[in-house]
Amino acid sequence: TIPLFLHTFIFRASGLVSLPSILLLGPSGSGKTSLLTLFERGANASTHTSQSPIAVECSLPVGAIARTDKYRSMNDPTNLTHKKFLLLDTPGHGKLRHHALETITNPQNLKGVIFLLDAANMAAGDEGLRQTAGYLHDVLLLLQKRMSNGTSKAPKEMAILIAANKMDLFTALPAALVKSSLETEITKLRVSRSKGLLDSGVNMGDDGEDNDDWLGEMGSKDFKLSQMEEFNIMVEVACGNVTGNANVEKWWKWVGDRL
Ligand code: GDP
Repeated sequence: TIPLFLHTFIFRASGLVSLPSILLLGPSGSGKTSLLTLFERGANASTHTSQSPIAVECSLPVGAIARTDKYRSMNDPTNLTHKKFLLLDTPGHGKLRHHALETITNPQNLKGVIFLLDAANMAAGDEGLRQTAGYLHDVLLLLQKRMSNGTSKAPKEMAILIAANKMDLFTALPAALVKSSLETEITKLRVSRSKGLLDSGVNMGDDGEDNDDWLGEMGSKDFKLSQMEEFNIMVEVACGNVTGNANVEKWWKWVGDRL
């Protein structure tokens, strides 16, 4: 497998690195490969497996208008060219996740992160929900650290789309329930993780106020995704489905708003 930095190098060498990029991540089986195939359709399609991270050049479809184009006249010829961006696919497999997290800490013109999940695998008390929430927690915590370390390299704002996939399945939870289930699960997770730290003595002598590993608002009882706004991380949840009668309009619009 080719490491991500090599891809980045290749894209830099080919001049494509100036394209804005969107990072795609999520647990395996959530539909990343399927979404990637759908997003790159019409572009220079290439087949790949989800084993190694890969950057694919995509174009916004006609009709989805990028934010920067909103005020252009209808007759402006630049409207006729598709807005291009790179979609960085990352493996959902636990062992390979460092690739995904590497991109977050070392972004190349990163405009946003799509966290794809299987909304039909989110039942309360389910292993699927626990794993998905755990992965999301880690991604958010990494971003939070990145945004709050105050270096000039950190972007002013980072946008995350929680894309709730497989809405065509009748067991899929609607967006509002996906959101609240994740919040409930992360609430539990964040408590157990900080307890683990206390038990291990890591936080001894610490008043707990600047615990780096606490996600969201310090001292809050319940975790809410909106708590990420304090760190200039804007989280949105939108549902859709990739296969069958694909419905990814809300996701396209979100991408368009970031370009
Ligand atoms: P990845 O591991 O995240 O890359 O996920 P894949 O793209 O390989 O998808 C995993 C499985 O979910 C495949 O069998 C897909 O056909 C299926 N899948 C992906 N998107 C959808 C969807 O919107 N609806 C349904 N019903 N199945 C989907």
